Parts: sequence; C-alpha cells; structure tokens
Amino acid sequence: MKANCWTGRNSVEVQEVPDPSILNNRDAIVKITSTAICGSDLHLLDGYVPTMEKGDIMGHEFMGEVVEVGSGISDGKLRVGDRVVVPFPIACGACASCRAELYSCCENTNPNAGISEKFFGHPTAGIYGYSHLTGGFAGGQAEYARVVLADANALKIESDLSDEQVLFLSDILPTGYMGADMCDIQEGDVVAVWGAGPVGQFAMDSARVLGAEKVIAIDKETYRLDMAAAQGYTTINFEDTDVRSALLELTGGRGPDKCIDAVGMEATHGASHVHLYDRAKQAVRSETDRPHALRQAILSCRSGGVVSVIGVYGGLIDKFPAGAWMNRSLTLRTGQCHVQKYMKPLLGMIEQGKIDPTRIITHRLPLTEAPTGYDLFKNKKDHCEKVVLTP
Ligand code: NAD
Ligand code: ZN
Ligand code: ZN
Repeated sequence: MKANCWTGRNSVEVQEVPDPSILNNRDAIVKITSTAICGSDLHLLDGYVPTMEKGDIMGHEFMGEVVEVGSGISDGKLRVGDRVVVPFPIACGACASCRAELYSCCENTNPNAGISEKFFGHPTAGIYGYSHLTGGFAGGQAEYARVVLADANALKIESDLSDEQVLFLSDILPTGYMGADMCDIQEGDVVAVWGAGPVGQFAMDSARVLGAEKVIAIDKETYRLDMAAAQGYTTINFEDTDVRSALLELTGGRGPDKCIDAVGMEATHGASHVHLYDRAKQAVRSETDRPHALRQAILSCRSGGVVSVIGVYGGLIDKFPAGAWMNRSLTLRTGQCHVQKYMKPLLGMIEQGKIDPTRIITHRLPLTEAPTGYDLFKNKKDHCEKVVLTP
C-alpha cells in the first residue's frame, strides 16, 4: 500500500510499504477514507522528537471502513463494513488511568513504556504515527492502518455525517474542547486563546459553547485571525501589538479569566525550548524575536485564573514564571487529549449543529500529495489552515 513516511528531518515521502495485518486478536484493519495533517505532525517533521525512525508512517488523525477484525472482537462490537473514527491515543479502558478517563495516560498500551518513562517520569499511552516514544505504531496517513484494541477505541459512525464532519473527532476537536473544558468556564468569563491554528480555532468554538462571554484569538497569521474574527472572536496580532497590554485593556485591567495555550513547541523554536534533538544547530533567537505563548499566558491571566495548555511540549522550557503562577494562585492544567472521553458528546454536538468542524478545512489533497500538504500547512502557504488527505 501507499503511506506517507518520515524520511528525515523536514522530509516526508509517499512510499510503497507492506499492508498492515492483524497481530493481536482485538486488532482491526481499517481502509482509510480520510486522514489529516496535525500541528503535532510538524513537531515530528521538524525533528523535535528524537525517537522517529526513517520509514515510520506518519499520521494520527484518520477514519475509514473496517475491512478485517481479529477473532477476539465480539460480533456486536465491531464488524467488517463499519465506518469508524480512530482516536489518536490507544487506551485499554481498564487500567487506573483509563478508569479515571485519562486515556492518553493509559498504562497498558505503549510497548515502549520504558522510553516514555525516561522522558516523562511515567509511561504514557501508545499513539499512532507518533514515534517510538509512544510505541512506534504505524500512522494513518496511509491506505490502511492496524487499529489496536479496536473494539475499545474506534468510534462507530452510524449516521450519514460526511467524513469531513467527523474526521476531527480523532484528535483536534476533542483537543480544542478539552482545552476549554479544563478552564472550568463560568458565566461572563473572558477566554484568551494563543494560536489560531486548527486546535486553537476549536478551543475558541468550544469556549463559546461552554459559555464564555468573550473569546480572544492571538496569532500572527492574519488569515488565521480573520478566520477567528469571522466567528465573532476578538483578535490580537502579536507581531504588531503588545499582547499583555492589549489583553489588560480588553479586560478592565484584570487579564483574561482563562487562558489557553494552543501553540506548544512552535512558540519556543529556537528560543528557550531545550531541544531534545540536534539542539546545537538551532538558531538562538532572543525573547523579543518570538514571544513565548505559555509565559505570556501565565503573566496575562487574572489572579486565580486557569491556564490550560493543549499545545504540545516535549522537553524542558526555561524561564517558566513559577513566581507568577504561585503568587497569583493560578491553576495550570494540561494533557495530551483524552479523546475517548469527548468523542461521543462531541459527535452529538456535531449532529445538533452546535459545532461545525468543517469550517477549518482549506485544502483537500490526495494522499500521494501529502508532502505538498505538509509544505502548505507548515509554511502557512495559500492561507492553509487544515489539510485533509484522501487515499
Ligand atoms: P498549528 O501549527 O497550525 O498552529 C499553531 C499556531 O500558533 C500558528 O497559527 C502559529 O502562527 C501560532 N503561534 C506561534 N507562536 C505563537 C505565539 N507566541 N503566540 C500566539 N500564537 C502563536 O498547529 P495546530 O494543529 O493548531 O496545533 C497546535 C498545537 O496543539 C501544537 O503544539 C500541536 O502539537 C498541539 N496539539 C495537541 C494535542 C493534545 O492532545 N494536547 C492534540 C493535537 C495538537
Ligand atoms: Zn494531532
Ligand atoms: Zn488503560
């Protein structure tokens, strides 16, 4: 089959690779109908994750049709012909983390738990297409994928919603929603979101659904800010505006009640992120060159507020404003998304028309043009917001 593979730093290629097959009796093989490129894929592309190997299949946002099921999956649970969306973290559903709905911290699904433990102190869940740190599972930017513990993870789509309406249930819609959910939004809250990429846009939509009075989008890409403005959100361009002052002005001098970091490592490229890989080759930029989203969020948030971090961080960051965090009673919440917790309620919201995930799709390409998709998305060419690939 064809698959989009990591071939080294800043390089992906569509290659001919062996078809996946059932390895364990609760696996299913899915023929992929739609798959997307995520901001997290860019961290892999950029070479910020040291446990990628040449030839690894990319992609953790995918859906399709079940074409084969393992003998351990009871007939009622999943059948050949079912249409499914696959959540990116693999969860066993039975460990202490899964029982606490912390699915991305599942204790049983990462065969390389030892590597994960070395980086993060404790093991984390297996993730598709996300390097050997998270198990080395082949990703979904391919014609077929092996879905692990498929009966416990894959979400069946039984209505006639289109792929584009449900594909993002695999990751970015639940992630944006979790970003807002962690904010514990109260009536009248002002919520500021750093990053108007796909994840940030869904964090904004979710903040509104959860009752925020005002939503503020912060980015430097004017087309992405325009996209947020079209939804009625207030925008701040961090390249021409002092973000903290603008936020204080918008909130009577208090700061936003809740702040969401939907940027992650991009904010720290070359600045203060201690790169896990090839650090020496990074150009060192000054703080003013590229403001750091997380630091800005902590320093801008009103006292007693919540800073919710859904942007991905891999290594260490320095100059973390621990003093502001502690002395102003801020709550910091974060996590890789616990997708399985949010998929069903969000599917309901899509069916009811409360959220329209299709609004962020700007590019539709065949799988064979995946490298072009990465170039468009990474380099913000042609006003690219989200690329959907079809095998
Ligand atoms: P993206 O790269 O398209 O969006 C990031 C946006 O942040 C860009 O528009 C960029 O211009 C903007 N930005 C950069 N520096 C900024 C700054 N200092 N202040 C404000 N904005 C700034 O990516 P995306 O797909 O929207 O993903 C966003 C982040 O969410 C990534 O780090 C990704 O890895 C992460 N993510 C996390 C999860 C999770 O489970 N927690 C899931 C999916 C994605
Ligand atoms: Zn993702
Ligand atoms: Zn588990």
